[in-house]
Amino acid sequence: MGSVTEEFRIIIAGGGIAGLATAIALRAPNRQITVLERSRMLGEVGALISLQPNATKIVSQWGIDKFLEQAEPMPDRAFRIFNLEGKMVREMRLETDMFGADRMLYHRQDLHKGLLDAATSPELPGPPAVVRTASAVASCDPDAGTVTLQSGETLEADLIVGADGIHSAIRAAVLGEERSAIPTGISAYRLLIPIENLQNIDNLPEKMIDTSGRSSEGTTTMIMGHDKRVIMGPGRGGKVFGVVALVPDEKMNETSSTASWVEAGSRQKLMESYADFPAWLREIFARAPDIALWQLRDIDPLPTWTKGRAILVGDAAHAMLPTQGQGASQSVEDAEALQAFFRQQHAGGRPSATEVASALRAVVAARYERASLIQLYSRQQARPATDSKASNTVTLDPAQFMKYNCDYHGAEEWLARQQAKQ
Ligand SMILES: Cc1cc2nc3c(=O)[nH]c(=O)nc-3n(C[C@H](O)[C@H](O)[C@H](O)COP(=O)(O)OP(=O)(O)OC[C@H]3O[C@@H](n4cnc5c(N)ncnc54)[C@H](O)[C@@H]3O)c2cc1C
Repeated sequence: MGSVTEEFRIIIAGGGIAGLATAIALRAPNRQITVLERSRMLGEVGALISLQPNATKIVSQWGIDKFLEQAEPMPDRAFRIFNLEGKMVREMRLETDMFGADRMLYHRQDLHKGLLDAATSPELPGPPAVVRTASAVASCDPDAGTVTLQSGETLEADLIVGADGIHSAIRAAVLGEERSAIPTGISAYRLLIPIENLQNIDNLPEKMIDTSGRSSEGTTTMIMGHDKRVIMGPGRGGKVFGVVALVPDEKMNETSSTASWVEAGSRQKLMESYADFPAWLREIFARAPDIALWQLRDIDPLPTWTKGRAILVGDAAHAMLPTQGQGASQSVEDAEALQAFFRQQHAGGRPSATEVASALRAVVAARYERASLIQLYSRQQARPATDSKASNTVTLDPAQFMKYNCDYHGAEEWLARQQAKQ
């Protein structure tokens, strides 16, 4: 172990949800954390996102509830599935004691801001993280522990965390080869609707939308038929209603350019894609101020996530489809795993290259199988969810994967549980 008087220097490439969660988790005395973010952080994508019980448990332990409260998070109390005819076919209640914590609904911008405030606040233990915006990482040398920015500047660190998303620049350095994001054949229309726009919709199923604008909790609704599905629910204390409508690329009646992730979608084409769904659904679409189109991509499980002093986390390591809503939650689990294995081995000093590499191997040992499985399950869940012969028999059962996903109590406990099974 190196001298305790020297600071442990940590560079995190990417200031998205994974990068900021990692910055919070790794904060401790004698650590210097720098987050390098490509953008100017002028705003996250306008969409809702959930943190699942496996992640909310961790986030509560970090003591950052105060920073997240401003986001007006809403506990999700039920997951309801409707068929093509608009009939409820399944309901899964979500009570706090089922998984030891709530599934929480956020607006992405608010969650991001809450995490940023916590990472940089002087009120939490250890020095606040320094976030450098307009600092795009171009490459990294995992063995030397250096990161080079597009500006040409090179920075040194004891630990490099690649949290730079699905198009990660750190990934090629860790793997020694390029692994590109794969179009999954599915695109998502995203709508974020002010709640007051949704009053008086004819034949809307009961309790689906609370238009009071003051809800302390919400429910998630899914309506599915054949190879299409819509997932929707409230956010920001009930002031907005988020809708994600999935459409196979070949059936979406419009071409998504590969140049951009999120672009404007055509309302008319969205309506055509959902022509055989209930009229109330199309009425919800009609009331959205604008519509974004997002081509869904993921990556195959990677051969490894670590090399030398570097590790990949979040979408850089295991980008997944949003069909189980686990993308952000798996990033929080990665952050907690780094916290756990660096807490154990390096309580307040500068670790050697061997110590860093060994802690990173422990993180991968705890996280790799689980995250890869959730990644593959998310692909599986994207398959048509109705029986092909009887078109409105919904076969999808979220309870099947909720238990596996949410029965999680941190990386060390998970690793011990897996080892006990062997
Ligand atoms: C529009 C949208 C909606 C989503 N909805 C859901 C959902 O409903 N449920 C769910 O579970 N998941 C959802 N996801 C996925 C989820 O947000 C991610 O899985 C999760 O937030 C982890 O992301 P990340 O931080 O690893 O990557 P990102 O969120 O992509 O963040 C990466 C960050 O790195 C920065 N960056 C990229 N390259 C560089 C570079 N070279 N140098 C420096 N910085 C760089 C980016 O600017 C960005 O800030 C959604 C994603 C998007 C984009």
